[in-house]
Amino acid sequence: MYKGSCLCGGIKYSINAELDAFGCCHCTSCRKGSGSAYGANVGVDRAVFNISDRDNLLREFESSKGKYRTFCSNCGSPLYAYLEKSPDMIRLRLGSLDTSFSQHPKAHTFIGEKALWEIVDADTPQFETWASRDILVQKGSRQP
Ligand SMILES: [Zn+2]
Ligand SMILES: [Zn+2]
Repeated sequence: MYKGSCLCGGIKYSINAELDAFGCCHCTSCRKGSGSAYGANVGVDRAVFNISDRDNLLREFESSKGKYRTFCSNCGSPLYAYLEKSPDMIRLRLGSLDTSFSQHPKAHTFIGEKALWEIVDADTPQFETWASRDILVQKGSRQP
């Protein structure tokens, strides 16, 4: 069981499952959506994702056609994204976890759009765009 929350604590969630392998996405949307060098995102089945949002703070922003990024309207923390065509698989923002989680990323994706100031870990596979599926399957994303 994993627990997480937004920065103000108004939205909390729990996940009743192990977390899959994940990657770090350096694309322009993930940089802007996270306010940092990359998004660290893991696919989570919505069936095991329990969210508590008593004050109805969660909002969605359609960052590209058919892709919704959710965030807390009080503190601005990004929580997860999902695609209209696969709403049952969310892409959780790992920075929102409260439970400790010590896996390392399997891939750095969209390195072609990374910020010039960022130094990327050279020991982890890097991809110009999407990861190859033999290295990382990015569930709930548009990975071909
Ligand atoms: Zn919040
Ligand atoms: Zn991205």
